Amino acid sequence: MPSVVSPLLPAYLGVDVGGTSIKIGIVDDAGRSLAHGKIATEHEKGAADGVARILEFSSGLLGEAGVNWEDVRAIGLGTPGTMDVKEGKLLHMPNMSGWDFFPIRSYLENESGKPVAFVNDGNAAAYGEYWVGRGSEHDSVVMITLGTGVGGGIIMHDIALHGDNSHGSECGHIVIDSGPDARICPCGQPGHLEAYVSATSLVKRVQEKLRAGEVSSLSSLLTEGGSLTTLDIANHGEQGDELARASIIETAVLLGRGITSIMHIIDPGIVVLGGGMNFGGSESEMGKIFLETIRQTVTELTFPVLAENTIIDFATLGSSCGYIGAAGVARKYFGTTS
Ligand SMILES: [Zn+2]
Repeated sequence: MPSVVSPLLPAYLGVDVGGTSIKIGIVDDAGRSLAHGKIATEHEKGAADGVARILEFSSGLLGEAGVNWEDVRAIGLGTPGTMDVKEGKLLHMPNMSGWDFFPIRSYLENESGKPVAFVNDGNAAAYGEYWVGRGSEHDSVVMITLGTGVGGGIIMHDIALHGDNSHGSECGHIVIDSGPDARICPCGQPGHLEAYVSATSLVKRVQEKLRAGEVSSLSSLLTEGGSLTTLDIANHGEQGDELARASIIETAVLLGRGITSIMHIIDPGIVVLGGGMNFGGSESEMGKIFLETIRQTVTELTFPVLAENTIIDFATLGSSCGYIGAAGVARKYFGTTS
């Protein structure tokens, strides 16, 4: 179906690579998504095969968007894992080892004939919210993505902060617990924020409480042999289950501590919370409690002027933020106004 939006050209191709799927979109010069979709990553086939399928899928999207390939100025590519941004090379890819050590920027440039802007997925998401999402009225944005893990992205005055070693903006790995019993982060180090506030961690903490005999309506899900998700925890919390509510509030307090530390280094205009774990967002009671608890914790720990001025809110672009942000970074470096 042709796009209902009249595109503002040039357009950009945004690509957001994840462990299970790759989201791809055609984004116009105003940051509007003209057509988008996703393909399976199938990392075991290797990165060259992935690039071929990205370009093949993109040609279908161009038709859908009514945009010619000549009108695509550049490609923005966001990937997870460790990388060398300056060299345009992937290093270690979590759960997608078939792409390890691939020189993806130059390969994609050669295959497509377009310049490629390369960023990590956290910064791509943050740039999307900074460009046309919840952070669009601010000069600096910190984005924390709460899902299986905890992603981070920092945009300061139009620059995605990737650092000298491509390890900047790693908000999920700041230390919030230096005690002897600190939880171990999936990266292997103790006490990192991700080990406390990811969806995986929340489910783990709830399971520990249930095993310790705490009473909760959630225990029926486990005794039925099912698994537990953060959606279950949100739903049971919404229905008044105390353990679920307390666990969500605990997560918010821990996250609020982490956000305070990040604010004291970056001093952003806004901290945006993205990802699948939002407990229903600002439309639901648990989402509101989650957000308010974070704000309250930050207020207790930060300087008065930051408590007053720094906005903390949910993201608005949903799962589109990654490819839209990647396209935005491509526009920044290769667009007409750059
Ligand atoms: Zn870590």
